[in-house]
Amino acid sequence: MAKETIFSKIINGDVPADIVYQDDLVTAFRDINPKAPSHILIVTHLLLPSVNDATAEHELALGRLFTVAAKIAQQEGIDQNGYRLIVNCNYHGGQEVSHFHMHLLGGRPLGPMVI
Ligand code: 5GP
Repeated sequence: MAKETIFSKIINGDVPADIVYQDDLVTAFRDINPKAPSHILIVTHLLLPSVNDATAEHELALGRLFTVAAKIAQQEGIDQNGYRLIVNCNYHGGQEVSHFHMHLLGGRPLGPMVI
């Protein structure tokens, strides 16, 4: 099991965040440094540092990230125009916080993926 992160503290309510959704498996809140009008982090309650740590036993919990993304996109009113979901992994992937999470970005045309 990985150690506590800033995201664990947000999930537990020890650090404030603009939470838009929470259930037994995930918590979603607005990114502190938004890159789009809607920039929401959907964070698993599992203490998994990255995608590298995902195994078959996590499939239900990690699948929830997608169904919650769809729900929040609708909540934000960006589902019809569309949006982007991103999961960064480790240094080359640009991951800053070692706690498995998904970015939901939308509210403006995002253009092609820039790599
Ligand atoms: P990563 O690069 O790990 O995929 O993304 C981490 C994201 O978390 C960044 O976009 C960063 O702005 C956001 N972030 C880091 N610390 C905090 C925080 O304390 N609160 C919130 N709301 N977002 C944070």
